Amino acid sequence: MTVLALETSCDETAVAILRDDRSGPELLASEVASQVAAHEKYGGVVPEIASRNHLIYAPQLLDGAVAAAKTPFSEIDAFAATSGPGLASSLMIGASVAKGLAIGFGKPYLGINHLEGHLLSPFFAGAMHSSRSSGLGDGGVASTMRVQGDIRPNVSLVVSGGHTLLVLVRGLTNYQLIGHTVDDAAGEAFDKVAKMLGLGYPGGPEIEKHARGGDPKRFDFPRSMPASENFSFSGLKTAVRYLLPKLPVIPSEVESGAVRETATRTGRPEAERTGSERIKSRRVTEGEFQRDPSSTLRFARGDVLRDLCASFQQAIVDVLVTKTIAVAQKHRVDLVTISGGVSCNQELRRQMRDATGRKGIEFKSAEPWLCTDNAAMIAFAALLRLRAGYRSKVTEEIDPNLKVA
Ligand code: ADP
Ligand code: MG
Repeated sequence: MTVLALETSCDETAVAILRDDRSGPELLASEVASQVAAHEKYGGVVPEIASRNHLIYAPQLLDGAVAAAKTPFSEIDAFAATSGPGLASSLMIGASVAKGLAIGFGKPYLGINHLEGHLLSPFFAGAMHSSRSSGLGDGGVASTMRVQGDIRPNVSLVVSGGHTLLVLVRGLTNYQLIGHTVDDAAGEAFDKVAKMLGLGYPGGPEIEKHARGGDPKRFDFPRSMPASENFSFSGLKTAVRYLLPKLPVIPSEVESGAVRETATRTGRPEAERTGSERIKSRRVTEGEFQRDPSSTLRFARGDVLRDLCASFQQAIVDVLVTKTIAVAQKHRVDLVTISGGVSCNQELRRQMRDATGRKGIEFKSAEPWLCTDNAAMIAFAALLRLRAGYRSKVTEEIDPNLKVA
């Protein structure tokens, strides 16, 4: 059985082909074309641009995938696409292409929930045997991936740019939503805070990079809603914003004697003594801060940014780990899984592994290349559903607000 899947829920166009034979599923092709560059200058995803790019990339990726898989369309047994949640005008492209192929080749169509794709992805594991680039963006991988047994009951933490969910997974299609974010998703908090700090997009990897070697205890950021199974990250974001103007400000280069021009001309310089060196420091003006909150960092020593990123990251990791473990213990589940873009975060993976280990709970995470949006996870969910006898009607609409449970 061979499944072809498209993923176009947001700003990544992706196509994958997954074959299931006696030795298990094998990923024959996985192509991803990222549009990050096209949206970066607008500070967020522009739906119109995203859907136009899906229209351009999808046919190219389809050609690339069938060539890489050495599998003509006529040998594909089912066509799948993400049917939600996501941007309506983006979802429509992938779903329409998959439906068209299904109708044209007289094969079944499966509409797959993007979040189900994420939450099943930790069960998709194995060694990557080869890799190739789509030439369109991030590149793709073609590999032999083996499923690790059945979908065992687990508590699944799905952490992405759009979602923060705790789901009790009892088996394939048997999902119970336990907790969700009441405001920002964890990835969104990473992205917004990175922007505030003048770092690039996507913010998660930027903050992780700048947090390396930083002191995660230096800044005491809030851990919101500790007694709830839901999440809230907007208070944390606000705490960073209020901290910025109060940061200890010391010029990055220690100057002895000479007063830095920028420090005297616009600010309120004050002399400080550190050891034997006389240095100058200043805070940014209110106007400068309003125009650009990250301007405070220009006068902060390098380790301030590092400690700030480390402390912010730790606040998110603490909340995610604590709540996930509590839910697993409450429901007496001996397996925790994490997926979604934020689960690429090495600190989250490490601390979740340590914390589950201490409680005797097994831990599985999606492979890093499967964490952010891709079509391999959609093909995998489609394959498991197909095996279990599921099919979708080609008249089934996409649903931008599709729920996983
Ligand atoms: P969505 O499908 O909601 O767009 P993805 O699953 O593609 O989300 O994940 C993207 C999100 O993951 C972004 O918010 C990004 O900042 C975050 N992310 C990616 N890598 C990391 C990382 N190393 N640490 C923290 N967050 C990360
Ligand atoms: Mg996603």
